[in-house]
Amino acid sequence: MQVSAHKVVSIHYTLTDNAGTVLDSSSGREPLMYIQGLGHLIQGMEEGIEGRTTGEKLNLKIAPEKGYGVRNDEFVQQVPKAAFGDQEIQPGMQFEAGTEEQRYIVTVTAIEGDMITVDGNHPLAGVELNFDVEIISVREATGDELAHGHVHGPDGNHHH
Ligand code: ZN
Repeated sequence: MQVSAHKVVSIHYTLTDNAGTVLDSSSGREPLMYIQGLGHLIQGMEEGIEGRTTGEKLNLKIAPEKGYGVRNDEFVQQVPKAAFGDQEIQPGMQFEAGTEEQRYIVTVTAIEGDMITVDGNHPLAGVELNFDVEIISVREATGDELAHGHVHGPDGNHHH
């Protein structure tokens, strides 16, 4: 069966950056299952998988615009150390920020004196992504799955 909107697709994938470093992989885990066409995967993945069939292996090279977005320097901010209270702040630490409607993760990138630099860009923003994808299975989504917007297990019956 070919992948198209509202099919449940299960894939194995390995994500590397252009230096060949593995950033994420489903290897050794259950395949990733998702409903095509609902925007659950990044745009470049759904476009690359569209129209393909079970058993196909793909190498998808995805530009940041169709991945996790381009970097936005406005998301980099300096915050006084005092704003973090008594916490010991280290580069690489992550915090939730934003409003109640829109939460996002910021990463501490630098500490200079009493000022801490935090970056609200997605860690993969601006990164060209290389996905090795194997399509494991493709089936119709059930009505319940479409109504709920998520997959109900391999056979479509198991709710979790
Ligand atoms: Zn459900």
